[in-house]
Amino acid sequence: MDLGATRLRAAAVSAAGQILVRHEARTLSDGSPRALVGSAIDLLGAVAADLPEGARAGLEGIGISAVGPLDPARGTLLGPPNLGDGYRGLELAGPLGRHFGLPASLERDTNVAALGERALGAARDRDDFMYVTVSTGVGGGVFAGGKLLGGAGGFAGELGHVPVGFDGPACGCGQAGHLEAYASGTGLARRGREAVAAGRSETLARRARRKAGGTIDAVDVAAAAEEGDAAAEQIVGEAVEAFALAALGFVNAFDPGLIVVGGGVAAGLGDRLLEGAREKVERFALAPPARCTRIVPAELGDDCGLIGCLPLVTGQAPAGAASRPGARMEA
Ligand SMILES: [Zn+2]
Repeated sequence: MDLGATRLRAAAVSAAGQILVRHEARTLSDGSPRALVGSAIDLLGAVAADLPEGARAGLEGIGISAVGPLDPARGTLLGPPNLGDGYRGLELAGPLGRHFGLPASLERDTNVAALGERALGAARDRDDFMYVTVSTGVGGGVFAGGKLLGGAGGFAGELGHVPVGFDGPACGCGQAGHLEAYASGTGLARRGREAVAAGRSETLARRARRKAGGTIDAVDVAAAAEEGDAAAEQIVGEAVEAFALAALGFVNAFDPGLIVVGGGVAAGLGDRLLEGAREKVERFALAPPARCTRIVPAELGDDCGLIGCLPLVTGQAPAGAASRPGARMEA
């Protein structure tokens, strides 16, 4: 199951990593935690009901990917800002596991995506790598020695809140100068709106006037930069630079050998974002071998939150995953 801020998705995934059945619903964020658990049970029940009897009998467990912060050991949410108040301490893994009589485990969405990329995506067979998602927010997961790095409290991998400057734009977390403030979809949009308010971008102002509601989003900022708008170009340039600096820091801190980059904003900015990071790491990584760190796009896309639940349940990559042909993208 993949619990996102707007969508709740559930799927049955085969041992080989294939999605057999899937269902989707809107995430109920009306402040009623019980309703959320109820709709999760309904959705998982619908998936199970659509399976052939043999497959239903063979279900091994429930993996739950959810927005953080959360406590994987207790299977509880810890007041995720994207779901609103009322979800702090909400037990998810326990009630779902008990209802279906299966072991259930909960993990942060970015860690689940990292598990998925390792099982079936761009990090197959890698014991050391990092996964970074650049999307509405920025987050990630760190694999070291074949294990997901949890940290002392289970919160390791909050890569979006790595500072890349002493000051800088405000971050959604309330601090300033974090990677997420520069490079996330939310950050790009916020900076675009500020440029319009300050009268610094005619292109963005024009785009805002053409849209219902007059809002600027990350796509507008990227498009305006493409059109040569100086303010938008500066915003995108700083996003690329912030990401490159953070990547350099990750390489020096963790020596991952491989950084897999997912998320819609990363896909939108395309090779520019990755190329900026590659250049920075190639030039400035401290240890010469680390300068060869590969920085590549993620392969699983939107389904990483579902497929990544498979290794969460089985604790290992799916059988035959390593020999899956094709699909691997080259740097
Ligand atoms: Zn932050």
